[in-house]
Amino acid sequence: MSGIQARLNAISAVINYKPAHAPLNFHDTKPTDIFGANVFNDKVMKHRLPKDVYRSLKKTIELGEKLDASIADVVANTMKDWAIEKGATHFTHVFYPLTGMTAEKHDAFLVPDGKGGALAEFSGKMLIQGEPDASSFPSGGLRSTFEARGYTAWDVTSPAYLLENPNGTFLCIPTAFLSWTGEALDKKTPLLRSNQALNKQAKRVLKLFGTDTKLPVTSYAGPEQEYFLIDRNFVFARPDLLIAGRTLFGAKSAKGQEFEDQYFGVVPRRVLSFMMEVERELFKLGVPVKTRHNEVAPGQFEIAPIYESGNLATDHNQLVMTTMRSVAKRYGMVCLLHEKPFAGINGSGKHLNYSVGNADLGSLFDPGETPHDNAQFLVFCAAAIRALHKYGAMLRATVATASNDHRLGANEAPPAIMSMYLGEQLTDVFEQIKKGKLKGSKTKGIMHIGVDTLPPLPMDPGDRNRTSPFAFTGNRFEFRAVGSAQSIAGSLVALNTMMSESLDYIATELEKATKGDVKKLNAAVQTLLQKIIKEHDAIVFNGDGYTEAWHKEAAKRGLPNLKTTPDALPVLTSKPVIDLFTKYGVLSAAELKSREEIYLEMYAKTLKTESALMVRMATTIIFPAAMRYQSELASACANLKAVGHDYKMGALEDVTAKLRGLQASVA
Ligand code: ADP
Ligand code: MG
Repeated sequence: MSGIQARLNAISAVINYKPAHAPLNFHDTKPTDIFGANVFNDKVMKHRLPKDVYRSLKKTIELGEKLDASIADVVANTMKDWAIEKGATHFTHVFYPLTGMTAEKHDAFLVPDGKGGALAEFSGKMLIQGEPDASSFPSGGLRSTFEARGYTAWDVTSPAYLLENPNGTFLCIPTAFLSWTGEALDKKTPLLRSNQALNKQAKRVLKLFGTDTKLPVTSYAGPEQEYFLIDRNFVFARPDLLIAGRTLFGAKSAKGQEFEDQYFGVVPRRVLSFMMEVERELFKLGVPVKTRHNEVAPGQFEIAPIYESGNLATDHNQLVMTTMRSVAKRYGMVCLLHEKPFAGINGSGKHLNYSVGNADLGSLFDPGETPHDNAQFLVFCAAAIRALHKYGAMLRATVATASNDHRLGANEAPPAIMSMYLGEQLTDVFEQIKKGKLKGSKTKGIMHIGVDTLPPLPMDPGDRNRTSPFAFTGNRFEFRAVGSAQSIAGSLVALNTMMSESLDYIATELEKATKGDVKKLNAAVQTLLQKIIKEHDAIVFNGDGYTEAWHKEAAKRGLPNLKTTPDALPVLTSKPVIDLFTKYGVLSAAELKSREEIYLEMYAKTLKTESALMVRMATTIIFPAAMRYQSELASACANLKAVGHDYKMGALEDVTAKLRGLQASVA
């Protein structure tokens, strides 16, 4: 019978796998010594920069004050010396174009000195601004190719770092990427703008409560990253995995994930080695990765960092994805970040844990001991409820990609309907507010787990609900619809901006009602919360989001269900969304239009590539194999006939009919 040589070769390669390099040693080189070793961080700056320069830079980084360009030369020079001491030869501005990828263009520090030698040079101007040829990055009409100039601008709030390669090291400077006329061509610029808007509106609300803080209020993000690891020999045998990142053909495995024996199982040794090296590389870059475990599907895993400010978390998540892809190769594997590499088993997502706050205040979504006492918490929570109800469709549009379409609503990820899980305790509080009375909140129960040696655990008021796209989890919201391969920037921008609008609304209403009289605040809050929850509680849903019943109920409540990317993306240029983004100076109408266009084009290109690939595989791989099989069956029939059996073989009829079907489908 026909065999699949590629598969046999892959199996033999897997059996004979040997690690290509010496094991890591965390004993002699402690993680604490490695952490941040390749980052131009606060410690390095404090140690190396002149005091006044350090202080000035720190004000920009921590307090969000305007950057004093006159210090750039000193900072650049210090950065260059530090980098060269650590073996760097080149520098690059790193930026985040709308493809969702990370982009870099390297320049050597060396310049000829005119006397036959060379000097290392890195000026303030080179640090602050770069001019990559931008013509091949998508701009969605913002910049035509004959005006290809785009420029990168240093983001001081995300520290520079060194990336190592076996043959050398280079300095990476995180930047924003703009057109010559100042339009955002990237994911970072709107994120920085949305953080500013959020700070302004949150501060107005905090002021009403008499909450004082010098630090800006910002967004926090903790993205849990799921991924698959596949032995590269198997991947090389599959053009679809190689090119599309997912299988386009295939039969369901006899054993998939139905035993659920994979989740939190013992991590295979080779995978664990991979994880440890990924972590070590990320530690050097100051990325605080913390959690690692097996995920639900066979070959699926997760890595999660400790949350950081939204901007830093976004840059770091890009580094996580790049690092995993490159380290996997060292272990003979391919890291698949595609949202749905294999039909019939779970795909990968990125749970985006989101909160608003700062180092002084912690998370403003943290209820404290008894939620009903904590009016400020309830106000921020109500702002989120209102924001999701008003702009849920827009948030959904930020996770609309061809690959994520396969995952959303497929019994493993939340449906495309945006709703909010509040948990029993908070729902109860808001129901009381709606009725106009607020007594005690349901006290947190003590959960007895029935084993004497274990202490009673306090019950988490935000009990788990895995099916909700937007779940309150105690001190933050968890947005679960982000795709595993996506940048988290888009969703963060949406969340920050819709929160800004709600906080603006709340601040304005409360300012009107109190007119500066603090004694009127409690009554004003009570009235406003009641109004908000009456108007917007349709978004709250604590049940099972996967069921048909919820889809019907959601339709009754008027919640949009934008199932596919082409359904969702036009929301980005709807009037309420344009009004929202322009009002808070996050994205102009032209910038929104460009995003809609680019993302639709990416969707179309993905489908086009996949269909071309499908036809190619059908005609060059499947058809010839089926023909060979057909011919084997035919000669078996002929042979049987020759020895006197009048044998009609069902399998031959079947294969012949299917081959005709295949040809027709390809056509
Ligand atoms: P689980 O899988 O139970 O949701 P994990 O520990 O895997 O939990 O991931 C939770 C993520 O949420 C981590 O990245 C964590 O740092 C992050 N997180 C915790 N508190 C906050 C917060 N206040 N704001 C944003 N993210 C948070
Ligand atoms: Mg989670």
